[in-house]
Amino acid sequence: MEESVIKTSETDLIASETTMPKRDVRKLSLEELKTFFVSKGDKPFRAQQVHEWLWKRSVTDFDDMTNLSLATRELLKLHFVINNIKVDTLQQSADGTIKNAVKLHDGLIVESVLIPTEKRITACVSSQVGCSLACKFCATARLKRMRNLNPDEIYDQVATIKQQSELFFGRPLTNIVFMGMGEPLLNYANVMAAIEKITSPQGLNMAAKRLTVSTVGIAKMIVKMADDEVKFNLAVSLHSAINSTRSSIMPINDTNTLEELGEALKYWYKKRKKKVTYEYVVWEGVNDTEKDARALLEFCKIIPCKVNIIEYNKIEEGGYRQAKEEILLLYQNLLESHGITTRIRKSRGKDIDAACGQLANKS
Ligand code: SAH
Repeated sequence: MEESVIKTSETDLIASETTMPKRDVRKLSLEELKTFFVSKGDKPFRAQQVHEWLWKRSVTDFDDMTNLSLATRELLKLHFVINNIKVDTLQQSADGTIKNAVKLHDGLIVESVLIPTEKRITACVSSQVGCSLACKFCATARLKRMRNLNPDEIYDQVATIKQQSELFFGRPLTNIVFMGMGEPLLNYANVMAAIEKITSPQGLNMAAKRLTVSTVGIAKMIVKMADDEVKFNLAVSLHSAINSTRSSIMPINDTNTLEELGEALKYWYKKRKKKVTYEYVVWEGVNDTEKDARALLEFCKIIPCKVNIIEYNKIEEGGYRQAKEEILLLYQNLLESHGITTRIRKSRGKDIDAACGQLANKS
């Protein structure tokens, strides 16, 4: 173990005795960490070591930073805390899916889900506590939006599931989807900061092409993502390609119409050259006619895309019912006959309310 010359000074001890709350060390950039160590008479290189423990190895305790001397660890403890999330309850579905209800440092709870399949292990993470979008068919909408998650709180959900993936399944985490609670593009800066730590070689080093951000389709933010040259995938929760129908189930469509969405997607494709995935649920009496399917087909011609027809997961309110299997197949046949890859997806983790749209902190 490396010895350090750092001595805890008198002012440090005084600082620790005052009521000043300690800063979360993960709020500091690498540069700020360097400045901190230099101000304490230590080498800037310490910052690199701490940064690596925090973002590459996801440690949650300064005492686990074993290549730092005891004195350095004490110095860190004196000035900082690590406000990591804590798994409050863990539920496992009969199909293997794991749902974590995680507690944030202020006591609020969000949910994140590990979805195992033969080939992949996917982490489905939340970006906000609750959601402001009020989609009529989604249980999270009932919670309203309480606050945005910080970058470290988003990162921690992935780090937790990465560990569970090894622990429960002996396999690495392969994919990440922002399809938990909240609208990622309404917490854009924090989501982007988290993705940086998740994908960078100085962080979890996960491939951006295995990460998907799912959005209700906020046009101006899709344009921003294109300008920011993001490397991850984009999914849009479409559910209808007819304005009046879409507005009736997703109020965001009133101010963010399909035409605006289409224009933003054209811009996305021009800049990023990446297919978009449309998520689509078919409900009885809402969007189950041939006219609805043909409208989707027209929308699919805007840019190259894939369609995921996802199973409706019943929530308590709303009275929505999924259309029959044959209607889903009609959709699939129509789209596929025009060369659009269309998959009918079965839900996972329904028995523990872990499936799409069911995350509502019930427990
Ligand atoms: N706000 C983002 C991500 C969260 S929702 C978005 O809208 O994309 C993740 C996906 O679950 C979305 O496609 C959403 O439309 C879908 N969803 C919501 N409630 C659902 C339900 N009850 N059954 C099936 N899918 C649902």
